[in-house]
Amino acid sequence: MTAYHPLTEAEAVDIARSLDNLFSPGTELTCNEIGDGNLNLVFHVTEPATGKSVILKQALPYAKVVGESWPLSLDRARIESEALIVQGRLAPGLVPEVYLYNPDLALTVMEDLSDHTIMRKGLIERIVYPRFADDISTFLANTLFFTSDLGMNQQEKKLQLKSFINPDLCKITEDLIFCDPYRDADTNSFEESIRDEAEALWSDGALHLEVALLREKFLTSTEALLHGDLHTGSIFARPDSTKVIDPEFAYYGPMGFDIGAVIANLLLSFAAQEHWSGDEAARKEYRTFLTGAVQGVWSGFESKFRALWNEHGSDPMLQRAPGFQDLYMKRLLQDTAGFAGAKMVRRIVGLAHVADIDTIPDAAVRERTQRLALAIGKTLIKRGRQTESIEQIVDIAVSET
Ligand code: ADP
Ligand code: MG
Ligand code: MG
Ligand code: MG
Repeated sequence: MTAYHPLTEAEAVDIARSLDNLFSPGTELTCNEIGDGNLNLVFHVTEPATGKSVILKQALPYAKVVGESWPLSLDRARIESEALIVQGRLAPGLVPEVYLYNPDLALTVMEDLSDHTIMRKGLIERIVYPRFADDISTFLANTLFFTSDLGMNQQEKKLQLKSFINPDLCKITEDLIFCDPYRDADTNSFEESIRDEAEALWSDGALHLEVALLREKFLTSTEALLHGDLHTGSIFARPDSTKVIDPEFAYYGPMGFDIGAVIANLLLSFAAQEHWSGDEAARKEYRTFLTGAVQGVWSGFESKFRALWNEHGSDPMLQRAPGFQDLYMKRLLQDTAGFAGAKMVRRIVGLAHVADIDTIPDAAVRERTQRLALAIGKTLIKRGRQTESIEQIVDIAVSET
């Protein structure tokens, strides 16, 4: 069973059984494949007698999206398991524990988090997550600071960067987020009812300049080890707990891309409340939770990141040059705004959409939601470089409603 091949459920059970100290010897195990099957297989193996369980995630050598198929490096399974281990060390308790990585099978065996809910689903159900902003800002501050030139040995950082070269997955982001939505690309996918909006994106020179600057930053910046795909489908949440999964897009890139991904997905849910909140009062209440979370994610990140910098920073110039930290934090906020906008736009007109919006049954409400999300996204991109405070980002969302 060593040469690479997609595992069967029976093989997944055999591998789970061979783990030390997990399941009782000779016990019955059951297995379900629960992934969406586009890029990866995800096996959930349980021992009914005790309720113990484990997750096996195996990378497939191709990506399969809307009938198309293209090859994709299996090395991303190594990157995912190594990123989970780095993140688990820097942000304890906020990612699943990795039990085993098998390079031949491109397989990671990890802690089962089925007692949590995928946050996108929770947001659709209008669940309030009081811990979310604090937990995710800790995750962001710790993982980004301690993998950057501010918080880790700068020679070791250059060596670590080499283990996280992720060209195939970066190319997906470069194409689908920073290029295709802004031209008449085959990969685009949008409803005819908003064709006017999509075509406007293709000819908006001022927007293209900002997207080009974001794209250049994504291509060239090596600020920190990013998660790389930090949308609400990569977050498992409970009111009392938050866990981040699925860092297969991890690479050294600009910090604002991760922070912006979180904020974009909160704002997509904000837009989607056109449907999911039953009336004006409910809509106002849940949107207040979401904008509070946007604010809390940034302000938590900023204060924790500054505190880590003040306590652990050791660079002889960056540490003491007057005003440098303030300039740095302002630039991160501006990057965050721009990347958040780009993440929103691609979810409306690009290849992969979000369930928060696509599952709205009424076509007119869906269209209104898509136009709202696009308006917020475009404004975030255009005003990104002028952003001075997180309140301005929230104001953009609120004033588009
Ligand atoms: P992909 O990269 O294919 O999106 P994910 O890592 O996001 O794969 O996993 C796909 C789905 O599998 C998740 O949405 C979740 O339902 C399930 N899953 C993944 N990891 C775990 C885990 N550690 N515990 C429980 N379920 C998981
Ligand atoms: Mg998936
Ligand atoms: Mg995923
Ligand atoms: Mg993934």
